[in-house]
Amino acid sequence: MNKKTICKAASIVLILLMLTGCSSISENPNESYSVTVYAMDTVMELTVYGNQTILNTAESLIFELDSKLSVTNAESDIYKVNHEGGGTICSEAYELLNQALELCKRTDGALDVSIYPVVEAWGFTTDEYRVPTDDELHELLRSVDHNSVDISKNGRVELAPGMMIDLGSVAKGYTANRLVKLLSENGVKSALLNLGGNVHVLGTKPDGALWKIAVADPAGDGYVGVIEAADKAIVTSGEYERFFEQDGVRYHHIIDPATGHPADNGFLSVTIVGNDGVLCDALSTALFVMGSDKAAEFWKESDDFEAIFIASDEIMVTEGLEDAFSPIGAYNDMKLTILHRD
Ligand code: ADP
Ligand code: MG
Repeated sequence: MNKKTICKAASIVLILLMLTGCSSISENPNESYSVTVYAMDTVMELTVYGNQTILNTAESLIFELDSKLSVTNAESDIYKVNHEGGGTICSEAYELLNQALELCKRTDGALDVSIYPVVEAWGFTTDEYRVPTDDELHELLRSVDHNSVDISKNGRVELAPGMMIDLGSVAKGYTANRLVKLLSENGVKSALLNLGGNVHVLGTKPDGALWKIAVADPAGDGYVGVIEAADKAIVTSGEYERFFEQDGVRYHHIIDPATGHPADNGFLSVTIVGNDGVLCDALSTALFVMGSDKAAEFWKESDDFEAIFIASDEIMVTEGLEDAFSPIGAYNDMKLTILHRD
């Protein structure tokens, strides 16, 4: 080894030492690291304790899932299946579609991954909003039927003619599940993931305290209240998230598959709290569509989630969240009903 090579080797060791030194200083378990990611048509904020480097991997995973699950990206398998009537899809899309179809059945079609042609007709996919005619909606609804999405051949999807599928109602929940898995496998014990309306908390805060998650006010800029939680997905769907107005009428992006119109069954927003991101994402959309009577009944027959339903004059909270949820501001004065199972 000549002198130059030794010097070079020594400086590499020095750089490595500095890098290791840096990472052991910066990777304090009580120190938080955050990144903002714009993906899936929303702003995402990831806050992780004790591991800064994992944020790069997390960000790449989000972009990867965004392009794989997107219904508008011409390179995605979902897009290809929609335009070719069927085909093979990647394992992520298959896994999610499989779970989503089970939830379509469980919610009796209040969630329907084949509602896409109707969502498209209202212009929610392009932001070129319009109110379709009843005849047009009637025609489009003929091809909406989650039961006709065939995934019986492993890895393949077959669609009936005219049918298109969209995983937009569950993609953020799936992404949150995958991020939690990635972080846990890398030793992260504490994280707050906010994927635009889909919150997922890993563990507690480093000091053992529960996370405090604010529920957005569907009728204004503030908050309805705060939920205290650990290791939970907390997902809200509301008509305030995406909408347009025409002739004084507001049309929002959650479609009732029974009518083809924006769901109008009395809720301003629905928040679901549970362990699984996909379940919570699917049910926040589906129970919003169901409206209060059916949603309360659905919850009573289930044991894998809790909910907060916001109507214009009442907040309904399922019994499992009675202690975890506190209304704030003007919502302190609103009627609050605790739903019980018996
Ligand atoms: P967001 O994406 O705003 O958080 P949701 O998770 O409730 O809201 O998903 C709404 C999206 O799902 C809509 O933008 C639309 O693409 C699609 N969608 C609308 N209605 C339904 C429905 N009944 N079933 C399945 N997907 C739906
Ligand atoms: Mg949803």
